[in-house]
Amino acid sequence: MNQSNQNQPFGFATAAIHCGEEPNYNTCGNVVAPIHLSTTFARKQVDKPTGGYDYSRTINPTRKALETKLAALEGARHALAFSSGFAAVSMALFATLKAGDHLIALNDVYCGTKRVIDGVLQRRFGVDVSYVDQTRLEAVEEAVTPRSRMVWIEGLSNPLLNMVDIRALADLAHRHGMLLGVDNTFISPYFLRPLELGADIVVHSSTKYMSGHSDVISGAVMCNDDEIRKELAFCQNAIGAVLSPWDSYMLMRGLKTLAVRMERHQSNAMTIAHFLENHPRIKRVIYPGLESHPQHELIKRQCSGYGGMITFELADNGNKRAACDFVESLNHIALAESLGGVESLIEIPSLMTNIGSSPEDCEALGINDLMVRLSVGIEDVNDLITDLSQALERC
Ligand SMILES: *Cc1c(COP(=O)(O)O)cnc(C)c1O
Repeated sequence: MNQSNQNQPFGFATAAIHCGEEPNYNTCGNVVAPIHLSTTFARKQVDKPTGGYDYSRTINPTRKALETKLAALEGARHALAFSSGFAAVSMALFATLKAGDHLIALNDVYCGTKRVIDGVLQRRFGVDVSYVDQTRLEAVEEAVTPRSRMVWIEGLSNPLLNMVDIRALADLAHRHGMLLGVDNTFISPYFLRPLELGADIVVHSSTKYMSGHSDVISGAVMCNDDEIRKELAFCQNAIGAVLSPWDSYMLMRGLKTLAVRMERHQSNAMTIAHFLENHPRIKRVIYPGLESHPQHELIKRQCSGYGGMITFELADNGNKRAACDFVESLNHIALAESLGGVESLIEIPSLMTNIGSSPEDCEALGINDLMVRLSVGIEDVNDLITDLSQALERC
Protein backbone atom coordinates (compact mmCIF):
# COMPACT_ATOMS: atom_id res chain seq x y z
CA MET A 1 0.00 0.00 0.00
CA ASN A 2 1.33 3.40 -0.93
CA GLN A 3 0.53 5.73 1.96
CA SER A 4 2.93 8.52 1.07
CA ASN A 5 1.50 11.96 1.41
CA GLN A 6 2.98 14.85 -0.52
CA ASN A 7 2.60 17.43 2.25
CA GLN A 8 3.95 15.22 5.02
CA PRO A 9 7.48 14.13 5.83
CA PHE A 10 6.16 10.89 7.38
CA GLY A 11 3.54 8.22 6.79
CA PHE A 12 -0.21 8.22 7.30
CA ALA A 13 -0.33 6.20 10.54
CA THR A 14 2.39 8.35 12.13
CA ALA A 15 0.59 11.56 11.14
CA ALA A 16 -2.68 10.17 12.50
CA ILE A 17 -1.08 9.65 15.90
CA HIS A 18 1.23 12.65 16.22
CA CYS A 19 0.02 15.58 14.10
CA GLY A 20 -1.60 18.30 16.19
CA GLU A 21 -0.55 16.57 19.42
CA GLU A 22 3.10 17.30 20.04
CA PRO A 23 3.82 17.17 23.81
CA ASN A 24 3.76 20.58 25.47
CA TYR A 25 6.98 20.63 27.50
CA ASN A 26 6.18 24.11 28.86
CA THR A 27 3.35 22.66 30.92
CA CYS A 28 3.38 18.94 31.74
CA GLY A 29 4.58 17.12 28.62
CA ASN A 30 1.13 15.67 27.93
CA VAL A 31 1.17 13.29 24.94
CA VAL A 32 -2.55 13.79 24.27
CA ALA A 33 -4.11 17.16 23.40
CA PRO A 34 -6.10 18.51 26.36
CA ILE A 35 -9.84 19.24 26.13
CA HIS A 36 -10.14 23.02 26.44
CA LEU A 37 -13.71 23.65 27.56
CA SER A 38 -13.23 27.37 28.13
CA THR A 39 -15.66 29.34 25.96
CA THR A 40 -13.62 32.52 26.25
CA PHE A 41 -9.95 33.38 26.71
CA ALA A 42 -8.52 36.14 28.87
CA ARG A 43 -5.99 38.66 27.65
CA LYS A 44 -3.64 41.08 29.38
CA GLN A 45 -3.97 43.83 26.79
CA VAL A 46 -7.12 44.97 24.97
CA ASP A 47 -5.71 44.44 21.47
CA LYS A 48 -3.71 41.23 22.15
CA PRO A 49 -5.74 38.01 22.43
CA THR A 50 -3.52 35.50 24.26
CA GLY A 51 -1.93 33.26 21.66
CA GLY A 52 -4.53 34.45 19.14
CA TYR A 53 -7.41 32.92 21.14
CA ASP A 54 -10.45 35.06 21.86
CA TYR A 55 -13.69 33.05 21.81
CA SER A 56 -14.28 29.33 21.28
CA ARG A 57 -16.75 29.51 18.40
CA THR A 58 -14.08 31.34 16.43
CA ILE A 59 -11.02 29.39 17.59
CA ASN A 60 -10.51 26.69 20.20
CA PRO A 61 -7.20 24.93 21.01
CA THR A 62 -8.68 21.41 21.02
CA ARG A 63 -10.49 21.95 17.73
CA LYS A 64 -7.32 23.49 16.31
CA ALA A 65 -5.30 20.39 17.27
CA LEU A 66 -7.91 18.24 15.55
CA GLU A 67 -7.90 20.44 12.44
CA THR A 68 -4.11 20.10 12.22
CA LYS A 69 -4.45 16.31 12.31
CA LEU A 70 -7.32 16.29 9.77
CA ALA A 71 -5.33 18.43 7.33
CA ALA A 72 -2.31 16.13 7.62
CA LEU A 73 -4.39 13.03 6.90
CA GLU A 74 -6.11 14.44 3.85
CA GLY A 75 -2.85 15.88 2.50
CA ALA A 76 -4.37 19.37 2.78
CA ARG A 77 -2.98 22.72 3.85
CA HIS A 78 -6.19 23.55 5.72
CA ALA A 79 -8.94 21.69 7.56
CA LEU A 80 -11.98 22.95 9.47
CA ALA A 81 -14.12 20.87 11.81
CA PHE A 82 -17.91 21.16 12.00
CA SER A 83 -20.70 19.84 14.19
CA SER A 84 -21.91 17.24 11.65
CA GLY A 85 -21.16 15.91 8.19
CA PHE A 86 -24.01 17.95 6.80
CA ALA A 87 -22.76 21.10 8.47
CA ALA A 88 -19.48 20.41 6.62
CA VAL A 89 -21.24 19.77 3.28
CA SER A 90 -23.38 22.89 3.75
CA MET A 91 -20.41 25.09 4.67
CA ALA A 92 -18.42 23.87 1.66
CA LEU A 93 -21.35 24.84 -0.60
CA PHE A 94 -22.21 28.10 1.21
CA ALA A 95 -18.57 29.21 1.16
CA THR A 96 -18.21 28.77 -2.60
CA LEU A 97 -21.66 29.34 -4.23
CA LYS A 98 -23.91 32.38 -4.52
CA ALA A 99 -27.34 33.14 -6.02
CA GLY A 100 -27.34 32.61 -9.78
CA ASP A 101 -24.52 30.05 -9.73
CA HIS A 102 -24.99 26.60 -11.21
CA LEU A 103 -23.91 23.41 -9.47
CA ILE A 104 -23.37 20.06 -11.19
CA ALA A 105 -23.82 17.14 -8.81
CA LEU A 106 -23.64 13.42 -9.33
CA ASN A 107 -26.98 11.71 -9.84
CA ASP A 108 -26.61 9.24 -6.96
CA VAL A 109 -25.38 11.91 -4.52
CA TYR A 110 -26.02 11.13 -0.84
CA CYS A 111 -29.71 11.73 -0.08
CA GLY A 112 -29.13 14.34 2.60
CA THR A 113 -26.75 16.25 0.33
CA LYS A 114 -29.53 16.34 -2.26
CA ARG A 115 -31.82 17.60 0.51
CA VAL A 116 -29.60 20.61 1.28
CA ILE A 117 -28.92 21.32 -2.42
CA ASP A 118 -32.60 21.12 -3.48
CA GLY A 119 -34.32 22.22 -0.29
CA VAL A 120 -32.02 25.05 0.77
CA LEU A 121 -29.62 26.18 -1.96
CA GLN A 122 -32.04 25.84 -4.88
CA ARG A 123 -35.38 26.51 -3.21
CA ARG A 124 -34.28 29.38 -0.96
CA PHE A 125 -31.04 30.83 -2.29
CA GLY A 126 -31.29 30.71 -6.06
CA VAL A 127 -28.53 28.23 -6.90
CA ASP A 128 -29.35 26.07 -9.93
CA VAL A 129 -28.44 22.41 -9.98
CA SER A 130 -28.10 19.65 -12.58
CA TYR A 131 -27.70 16.02 -11.58
CA VAL A 132 -25.65 13.95 -14.01
CA ASP A 133 -24.04 10.55 -14.26
CA GLN A 134 -20.47 11.59 -13.54
CA THR A 135 -18.95 8.28 -14.43
CA ARG A 136 -19.53 9.69 -17.94
CA LEU A 137 -17.32 12.79 -18.32
CA GLU A 138 -19.17 13.81 -21.48
CA ALA A 139 -22.39 14.08 -19.41
CA VAL A 140 -20.64 16.59 -17.15
CA GLU A 141 -19.30 18.51 -20.13
CA GLU A 142 -22.82 18.70 -21.61
CA ALA A 143 -24.26 20.05 -18.34
CA VAL A 144 -21.80 22.98 -18.13
CA THR A 145 -23.35 26.45 -18.50
CA PRO A 146 -21.63 29.87 -18.32
CA ARG A 147 -22.80 30.08 -14.70
CA SER A 148 -21.48 26.67 -13.64
CA ARG A 149 -19.31 27.18 -10.60
CA MET A 150 -18.84 23.80 -9.02
CA VAL A 151 -18.91 20.05 -9.59
CA TRP A 152 -19.85 17.95 -6.56
CA ILE A 153 -19.08 14.26 -6.35
CA GLU A 154 -18.49 11.51 -3.81
CA GLY A 155 -15.18 9.63 -3.64
CA LEU A 156 -17.18 6.44 -3.56
CA SER A 157 -20.92 6.93 -4.06
CA ASN A 158 -23.76 5.68 -1.89
CA PRO A 159 -25.10 3.02 -2.12
CA LEU A 160 -23.89 1.98 -5.58
CA LEU A 161 -20.17 2.47 -4.83
CA ASN A 162 -19.39 4.21 -8.11
CA MET A 163 -16.13 6.07 -8.57
CA VAL A 164 -15.16 8.89 -10.89
CA ASP A 165 -11.78 9.56 -12.49
CA ILE A 166 -11.00 12.49 -10.19
CA ARG A 167 -7.95 13.79 -12.05
CA ALA A 168 -9.85 13.87 -15.35
CA LEU A 169 -12.89 15.48 -13.74
CA ALA A 170 -10.72 18.08 -11.95
CA ASP A 171 -9.12 18.99 -15.29
CA LEU A 172 -12.54 19.30 -16.90
CA ALA A 173 -13.86 21.42 -14.01
CA HIS A 174 -10.86 23.75 -14.05
CA ARG A 175 -11.01 24.12 -17.83
CA HIS A 176 -14.50 25.58 -17.35
CA GLY A 177 -13.57 27.73 -14.35
CA MET A 178 -15.34 25.42 -11.89
CA LEU A 179 -14.25 24.01 -8.55
CA LEU A 180 -14.36 20.30 -7.80
CA GLY A 181 -15.75 19.26 -4.40
CA VAL A 182 -15.51 15.66 -3.21
CA ASP A 183 -17.34 14.01 -0.33
CA ASN A 184 -14.72 11.45 0.68
CA THR A 185 -16.67 9.85 3.54
CA PHE A 186 -17.17 6.38 2.07
CA ILE A 187 -13.54 5.40 1.46
CA SER A 188 -11.57 7.69 3.82
CA PRO A 189 -8.27 9.52 3.19
CA TYR A 190 -6.38 6.35 4.06
CA PHE A 191 -7.34 4.98 0.64
CA LEU A 192 -8.19 8.09 -1.40
CA ARG A 193 -6.91 11.68 -1.23
CA PRO A 194 -8.79 13.72 -3.82
CA LEU A 195 -6.87 16.98 -3.22
CA GLU A 196 -3.71 15.26 -4.44
CA LEU A 197 -5.59 14.39 -7.65
CA GLY A 198 -6.63 17.98 -8.31
CA ALA A 199 -9.87 18.39 -6.32
CA ASP A 200 -10.34 21.79 -4.65
CA ILE A 201 -12.43 20.88 -1.62
CA VAL A 202 -12.90 17.63 0.30
CA VAL A 203 -15.59 17.06 2.90
CA HIS A 204 -16.16 14.26 5.37
CA SER A 205 -18.89 13.05 7.57
CA SER A 206 -16.23 12.21 10.16
CA THR A 207 -19.10 10.54 12.03
CA LYS A 208 -18.21 7.49 9.93
CA TYR A 209 -14.73 6.00 9.27
CA MET A 210 -12.76 8.98 10.60
CA SER A 211 -14.11 8.67 14.15
CA GLY A 212 -14.77 4.97 13.64
CA HIS A 213 -16.67 4.11 16.82
CA SER A 214 -20.22 5.32 16.07
CA ASP A 215 -20.07 7.72 18.99
CA VAL A 216 -19.48 11.22 17.61
CA ILE A 217 -21.44 13.21 15.02
CA SER A 218 -18.94 15.45 13.25
CA GLY A 219 -17.79 16.81 9.91
CA ALA A 220 -14.72 18.27 8.25
CA VAL A 221 -13.81 20.34 5.20
CA MET A 222 -10.30 20.35 3.75
CA CYS A 223 -8.73 22.53 1.05
CA ASN A 224 -5.38 23.93 -0.10
CA ASP A 225 -6.44 27.34 -1.38
CA ASP A 226 -6.05 30.20 1.13
CA GLU A 227 -9.03 32.15 -0.27
CA ILE A 228 -11.35 29.13 0.03
CA ARG A 229 -10.07 28.58 3.56
CA LYS A 230 -10.84 32.19 4.41
CA GLU A 231 -14.43 31.86 3.18
CA LEU A 232 -14.84 28.58 5.07
CA ALA A 233 -13.47 30.06 8.28
CA PHE A 234 -15.81 33.04 7.81
CA CYS A 235 -18.81 30.68 7.46
CA GLN A 236 -17.61 28.53 10.37
CA ASN A 237 -17.56 31.58 12.62
CA ALA A 238 -20.56 33.43 11.14
CA ILE A 239 -22.93 30.45 11.02
CA GLY A 240 -21.41 28.78 14.06
CA ALA A 241 -21.86 25.05 13.38
CA VAL A 242 -18.56 24.27 15.13
CA LEU A 243 -17.42 20.97 16.61
CA SER A 244 -17.32 21.06 20.42
CA PRO A 245 -14.02 20.57 22.31
CA TRP A 246 -15.20 17.22 23.68
CA ASP A 247 -16.24 15.92 20.25
CA SER A 248 -12.98 17.26 18.80
CA TYR A 249 -11.12 15.14 21.33
CA MET A 250 -13.29 12.08 20.56
CA LEU A 251 -12.61 12.44 16.86
CA MET A 252 -8.84 12.82 17.45
CA ARG A 253 -8.90 9.66 19.55
CA GLY A 254 -10.65 7.75 16.77
CA LEU A 255 -8.34 9.05 14.05
CA LYS A 256 -5.27 7.56 15.73
CA THR A 257 -6.35 4.07 14.69
CA LEU A 258 -7.73 4.96 11.25
CA ALA A 259 -4.93 3.19 9.38
CA VAL A 260 -5.21 -0.12 11.24
CA ARG A 261 -8.99 0.00 11.18
CA MET A 262 -9.14 0.62 7.43
CA GLU A 263 -6.80 -2.30 6.74
CA ARG A 264 -9.06 -4.61 8.74
CA HIS A 265 -12.31 -3.18 7.28
CA GLN A 266 -10.87 -3.87 3.87
CA SER A 267 -9.58 -7.40 4.47
CA ASN A 268 -12.88 -8.41 6.10
CA ALA A 269 -14.83 -6.81 3.23
CA MET A 270 -12.78 -8.62 0.60
CA THR A 271 -13.40 -11.97 2.29
CA ILE A 272 -17.13 -11.28 2.62
CA ALA A 273 -17.43 -9.99 -0.97
CA HIS A 274 -15.97 -13.29 -2.23
CA PHE A 275 -18.27 -15.28 0.08
CA LEU A 276 -21.34 -13.38 -1.19
CA GLU A 277 -20.26 -13.62 -4.82
CA ASN A 278 -20.31 -17.42 -4.55
CA HIS A 279 -23.57 -17.70 -2.60
CA PRO A 280 -26.63 -19.00 -4.52
CA ARG A 281 -29.04 -16.52 -2.82
CA ILE A 282 -27.04 -13.54 -4.13
CA LYS A 283 -27.60 -12.08 -7.57
CA ARG A 284 -24.98 -9.33 -7.62
CA VAL A 285 -22.21 -8.02 -5.38
CA ILE A 286 -20.87 -4.48 -5.74
CA TYR A 287 -17.45 -4.11 -4.07
CA PRO A 288 -14.64 -1.99 -5.51
CA GLY A 289 -12.10 -4.75 -4.85
CA LEU A 290 -13.90 -7.28 -7.07
CA GLU A 291 -12.87 -7.47 -10.70
CA SER A 292 -16.58 -7.43 -11.56
CA HIS A 293 -16.87 -3.83 -10.27
CA PRO A 294 -17.36 -1.58 -13.32
CA GLN A 295 -14.61 0.84 -12.20
CA HIS A 296 -12.28 -1.75 -10.67
CA GLU A 297 -9.29 -0.76 -12.83
CA LEU A 298 -9.79 2.97 -12.16
CA ILE A 299 -10.13 2.37 -8.41
CA LYS A 300 -7.00 0.24 -8.39
CA ARG A 301 -5.12 3.09 -10.06
CA GLN A 302 -6.67 5.97 -8.12
CA CYS A 303 -6.85 4.53 -4.60
CA SER A 304 -4.50 2.58 -2.39
CA GLY A 305 -7.34 0.24 -1.34
CA TYR A 306 -10.99 -0.61 -1.71
CA GLY A 307 -12.57 0.21 1.62
CA GLY A 308 -15.13 -1.61 3.72
CA MET A 309 -18.50 -0.97 2.04
CA ILE A 310 -20.35 -3.70 0.13
CA THR A 311 -23.70 -3.39 -1.64
CA PHE A 312 -25.40 -6.56 -2.82
CA GLU A 313 -28.66 -7.72 -4.28
CA LEU A 314 -30.55 -10.85 -3.33
CA ALA A 315 -31.77 -13.11 -6.11
CA ASP A 316 -35.53 -12.74 -6.64
CA ASN A 317 -37.18 -15.90 -5.30
CA GLY A 318 -40.70 -14.44 -5.24
CA ASN A 319 -40.41 -13.23 -1.64
CA LYS A 320 -40.97 -9.46 -1.86
CA ARG A 321 -39.78 -9.08 1.73
CA ALA A 322 -36.65 -11.16 1.20
CA ALA A 323 -34.23 -8.33 2.06
CA CYS A 324 -36.25 -7.48 5.19
CA ASP A 325 -36.38 -11.13 6.26
CA PHE A 326 -32.62 -11.37 5.68
CA VAL A 327 -31.56 -8.30 7.66
CA GLU A 328 -34.06 -9.00 10.45
CA SER A 329 -32.60 -12.53 10.84
CA LEU A 330 -29.06 -11.36 11.56
CA ASN A 331 -27.87 -11.97 15.10
CA HIS A 332 -24.72 -9.86 15.37
CA ILE A 333 -24.69 -7.53 12.39
CA ALA A 334 -26.83 -4.60 13.51
CA LEU A 335 -29.72 -3.37 11.39
CA ALA A 336 -28.92 0.33 11.41
CA GLU A 337 -28.20 3.33 9.22
CA SER A 338 -24.69 4.83 9.15
CA LEU A 339 -21.37 3.19 8.41
CA GLY A 340 -17.67 3.16 9.15
CA GLY A 341 -17.77 2.06 12.78
CA VAL A 342 -15.89 -0.88 14.26
CA GLU A 343 -19.18 -2.80 14.40
CA SER A 344 -20.77 -4.16 11.21
CA LEU A 345 -23.97 -2.38 10.21
CA ILE A 346 -26.48 -3.37 7.56
CA GLU A 347 -29.43 -1.57 5.97
CA ILE A 348 -31.79 -1.59 2.99
CA PRO A 349 -31.15 1.69 1.08
CA SER A 350 -34.55 1.86 -0.67
CA LEU A 351 -36.36 1.55 2.68
CA MET A 352 -33.93 3.33 4.99
CA THR A 353 -31.11 5.71 3.93
CA ASN A 354 -32.61 6.50 0.51
CA ILE A 355 -36.22 6.72 1.67
CA GLY A 356 -36.16 10.43 0.77
CA SER A 357 -35.76 9.57 -2.94
CA SER A 358 -38.85 8.77 -4.99
CA PRO A 359 -39.30 5.09 -5.98
CA GLU A 360 -38.82 6.25 -9.60
CA ASP A 361 -35.47 7.87 -8.77
CA CYS A 362 -34.31 4.70 -6.97
CA GLU A 363 -35.51 2.59 -9.88
CA ALA A 364 -33.68 4.79 -12.41
CA LEU A 365 -30.43 4.39 -10.47
CA GLY A 366 -30.90 0.64 -10.10
CA ILE A 367 -31.64 0.70 -6.36
CA ASN A 368 -34.37 -1.82 -5.54
CA ASP A 369 -35.96 -3.47 -2.51
CA LEU A 370 -33.71 -6.54 -2.80
CA MET A 371 -30.59 -4.41 -2.41
CA VAL A 372 -28.71 -4.38 0.87
CA ARG A 373 -25.80 -2.18 2.01
CA LEU A 374 -23.27 -3.62 4.44
CA SER A 375 -20.70 -1.60 6.36
CA VAL A 376 -18.21 -4.32 7.21
CA GLY A 377 -16.82 -3.90 10.72
CA ILE A 378 -13.57 -5.12 12.19
CA GLU A 379 -14.94 -8.17 14.05
CA ASP A 380 -13.58 -11.68 13.36
CA VAL A 381 -14.59 -12.25 9.78
CA ASN A 382 -15.64 -15.86 10.39
CA ASP A 383 -18.27 -14.70 12.86
CA LEU A 384 -19.63 -12.26 10.29
CA ILE A 385 -19.81 -14.96 7.63
CA THR A 386 -21.54 -17.35 10.02
CA ASP A 387 -24.13 -14.68 10.74
CA LEU A 388 -24.67 -13.82 7.06
CA SER A 389 -24.93 -17.53 6.16
CA GLN A 390 -27.64 -18.34 8.68
CA ALA A 391 -29.67 -15.23 7.73
CA LEU A 392 -29.41 -16.05 4.01
CA GLU A 393 -31.09 -19.39 4.83
CA ARG A 394 -34.08 -17.47 6.17
CA CYS A 395 -35.05 -15.30 3.25
C1 LIG B 1 -23.41 10.37 6.82
C2 LIG B 1 -23.00 11.12 5.60
C3 LIG B 1 -23.19 12.50 5.52
C4 LIG B 1 -23.82 13.28 6.66
O1 LIG B 1 -23.05 13.23 7.79
P1 LIG B 1 -23.62 13.48 9.27
O2 LIG B 1 -22.39 13.38 10.10
O3 LIG B 1 -24.62 12.41 9.54
O4 LIG B 1 -24.24 14.83 9.28
C5 LIG B 1 -22.75 13.15 4.38
N1 LIG B 1 -22.19 12.49 3.35
C6 LIG B 1 -22.02 11.15 3.38
C7 LIG B 1 -21.41 10.46 2.22
C8 LIG B 1 -22.41 10.42 4.52
O5 LIG B 1 -22.22 9.10 4.56
